[in-house]
This record gives sequence, C-alpha cells and structure tokens, in this order.
Amino acid sequence: MAADAALRVGLFGGTFDPVHQGHIELALRVLARCRLDRLWFIPALLPPHKQRPLASFAHRAAMIEAALADCRQTDGRIRCARIEERLPAPSYTLNTVQALIREEPGCRYSLVIGADSLLDLPHWHRIDELLQTVDLIVVKRDEIDRTAVDRALTALTPAFVREPGHCDRWHGQGGRIALYLDDIELPVSSSAIREELAEGATPALLPPPVLAHIRRHRLYGWKETV
Ligand code: ATP
Repeated sequence: MAADAALRVGLFGGTFDPVHQGHIELALRVLARCRLDRLWFIPALLPPHKQRPLASFAHRAAMIEAALADCRQTDGRIRCARIEERLPAPSYTLNTVQALIREEPGCRYSLVIGADSLLDLPHWHRIDELLQTVDLIVVKRDEIDRTAVDRALTALTPAFVREPGHCDRWHGQGGRIALYLDDIELPVSSSAIREELAEGATPALLPPPVLAHIRRHRLYGWKETV
C-alpha cells in the first residue's frame, strides 16, 4: 500500500466476543489483497461504543489465539496483540495506535474495519488525528454499498477524495489512503453467534477451537445437552 519500505501492518480492532469465521476470513483476505506484512487482531479491553463484552478480555484473546493457531495459512503473519489490556479504558483506537507507534516507530499502519464501523467513525475519539495517523481498509458488510462508503469517506474530517479512475481508492491528508474491498462478504456476526449459543445451538461459523474453548469454560450460557 505504501510507496516506502516501511513494514506494513494492518490493525484489526474489535470486541471479538467471540471471534468468528468472518473475522478470520476477512483477515486472511485483507492480508493477501492489501500487501500487508502483518495483521494484528487487537481485542478491546472495554469498547467505547458498544456494550460491555460478555466474555472477559482473557477469554476473548485466548479464543483469537486458538483460532489463529488452528489456521495454517497465517504463516505467523497474523497475531493477536493484547496491547489494550495494559492501556487505560475505554479502549480508544488513537491511544492504541500511538502506543504501537512508540513501540515500533518504523511501521506504516492501516486500520482494518467493516463498513458498519466506517459509518460510526465520526463518533470515534479524536478521529481527525486518527485519520492522519493510519490508512484505512474498509471491507463490505451487510447492505452498505460502495455509494454509502464513498459518501462516508468524503464526509469525514479530514475528508478523503476519490482517486480519479479508481472506484475503490481514496486519498486523505498527509498521504493517507483508504481502500474499499467489496468482494469480501461474510454474513456473520458475534451477536448472532451469542444468540445461537444462548439458545443451545452450535453455530456453524465458529472456528472449532473457539467452540471448544466456549464449551470448556461454559461461556455465553453454553449448556451441555448430552
Ligand atoms: P457484534 O455482532 O457483537 O456487533 P461483530 O461481529 O461486529 O460483533 P466485532 O468484534 O465488533 O464483531 O467486529 C470487529 C470488526 O470486524 C469491526 O470493524 C466489524 O465491522 C468487522 N466485522 C465483523 N464481522 C464482519 C463481517 N461479517 N463482515 C465484515 N466486517 C466484519
């Protein structure tokens, strides 16, 4: 993505309550498509814009690690970063990115988000500063189409401007770039999975080691039916 030789790192933040196959597929495809060197899942200790997670930070991070350990394609380039555990709550993305820059200053960071999170960006903490610090990789989600993504990116402060001749690439301030991937469509959510688990069902789109962890620790109201 960047023209320079800096290590390109994708930051995929979320609640991951629990991590599901959609998150894993998304990470694999973004890593392959956006020429990133690394991609880090970053579970939030306490998400600022969502309700308090049901599972503890330790369980959510352990489930991500179990899913990634089971996923041979990652080649060690996708990892779980537990950084927000030691940062002040709530877990503001700008604070996390600034902490990462202090630890590894030579990298170029891209924030990986679903299109639903893009629509929410104007409410994020010091969003203007965040947008000048990271690139954006937006992945299609639900009914949010390219027109809605373009409208959202061009209305941000600072605004992105679409690159002439490209429908999926925008330029922001300070050489920042936004990309939109619309061929990754994964109709699954953690909330739907939590509902299924609470009803005693076994969700299809849970990586097997994640389901095993949920069963072992009886998370999300899991009850053994045998
Ligand atoms: P919930 O249903 O509890 O809101 P979620 O499935 O959206 O959870 P999060 O952990 O909140 O999962 O999401 C982390 C990031 O992953 C967000 O940027 C979200 O937009 C993105 N994301 C999650 N699931 C998908 C999906 N199926 N397709 C595209 N993006 C997704």
